[in-house]
Amino acid sequence: MTIRLRDTLTRTVVPVKPIEAGLLRMYSCGPTVYRYAHVGNLRTFLLADLIRRAMLYHGVEVVHIQNITDVGHLRADHHRREVDPMLVAAGLEGRPSREIADAYEAAFHADSALLNILPAHEFPRATEHIPEMLALIVQLIDRGLAYPAANGDVYFSVRGLESYGKLSGRRPDELLSGARVEVSDEKRDPLDFALWKAAKPAEPAWDSPWGAGRPGWHIECSAMALRYLGNDFAIHGGGNDLIFPHHENEIAQSEGASGATFARFWLHNGMLNLGGEKMSKSTGLLVDLQAAVARFGGMSLRLFYLMAHYRSPLDYSEELVTAASTAYDRLRRFLIRAARPAGVEPDPILLASFVGAMDQDFATPEVLAAVFDAIAEANRLLDLGQEPTALVAAIHEVVNVLGLRVEAEGLDDIAQLVTEVGAEFGIDGGSPDQVVSRLIELRATARAERDFVRSDLIRDRLTDAGILLEDTSDGARWVRR
Ligand SMILES: [Zn+2]
Repeated sequence: MTIRLRDTLTRTVVPVKPIEAGLLRMYSCGPTVYRYAHVGNLRTFLLADLIRRAMLYHGVEVVHIQNITDVGHLRADHHRREVDPMLVAAGLEGRPSREIADAYEAAFHADSALLNILPAHEFPRATEHIPEMLALIVQLIDRGLAYPAANGDVYFSVRGLESYGKLSGRRPDELLSGARVEVSDEKRDPLDFALWKAAKPAEPAWDSPWGAGRPGWHIECSAMALRYLGNDFAIHGGGNDLIFPHHENEIAQSEGASGATFARFWLHNGMLNLGGEKMSKSTGLLVDLQAAVARFGGMSLRLFYLMAHYRSPLDYSEELVTAASTAYDRLRRFLIRAARPAGVEPDPILLASFVGAMDQDFATPEVLAAVFDAIAEANRLLDLGQEPTALVAAIHEVVNVLGLRVEAEGLDDIAQLVTEVGAEFGIDGGSPDQVVSRLIELRATARAERDFVRSDLIRDRLTDAGILLEDTSDGARWVRR
């Protein structure tokens, strides 16, 4: 098996392999839990899920760790004051920040389940790993790569690490001329970044060898990845907006402290845009995931993401999600019509073409195009009364690797659709079974009257609603497809 993906570190598409046979260790950056996840966050979570499903298909177990950031990392508000977004949310919602974090963490898990995203094996919380972070900072100070400032902050000394900048390609001298450097009296060099920040009044704080304070933005991921995965693990992933500074600094902290490789392979997904701008908390352009799921359904949304390549920028628009929703409806009807045949080997040629496209840098748009072509062909054969079981089995197999499934509410939709078809032909009320029986009678009457236009229309409208009529010597029977 060879899954090839683009590695940000080497900027090439390379085979991704587990370091230990049959078991791949992976870390991906998780949510900050002071508000609901938005539809942009999901691209990263979905990519980790795809890795797991694709690897499992090839017989490789993935051990997946995803952090929960329940510390509000300081950011500048519109008055350019440093604020803790967790505390801002606590103030706005009138409840303690612990409650805020717990509520939005629970919402994140619920949202992920609606998109059929496999839960990570561990979801370590930042607030429960302060000792690991402090130990890492002490190690960096011991190795001469970090220093405490007079005010109780601790900084990483960027120029102390030869390899700094290898992920983002931004070397210290270029950075200095860039706009992202934050000048402070406490730093020895403007490029240095905070590992620990001295406490300010009324902020959450933890004890440390340098006085009360809080962790910097990047240290939690290094500390938790090393705690749960150790050095030299296979994949580290996240959105491409995290390449610099977050992931660059994670590498600096982890490799600086141990001298060993941190992650071998760095995987990044493209951003989700809204009206051409990146969707994020900082741009204020957000669509809550829950709102989108309520409107379109989790599987339509999942398909929306899969219809674009994971590295391409993707625009969130009503039109595109509606198109995904229509496509999902076609897929769902097929999966209901043609259940996975037991004991049938999937068509090997078709399966090889699906898997081949998947394994080549997760070319999901190509995989989906092939799936929908195969569905059209299978439907055509089923309409002719044939049983294309190997084809059906191949479709089910790849749909499973893509993590798509029949949504439970989809089945209720059929009842709704049947009721609508009934109403079209003047039938008001009754259970779906009663409505279908009544429609079968109306069709028999139309046929007896040689009104084949009407009888065919009734059959076609029922087919659209997911009900197949079969004419037998005892009259018409029907099945849910
Ligand atoms: Zn991270």
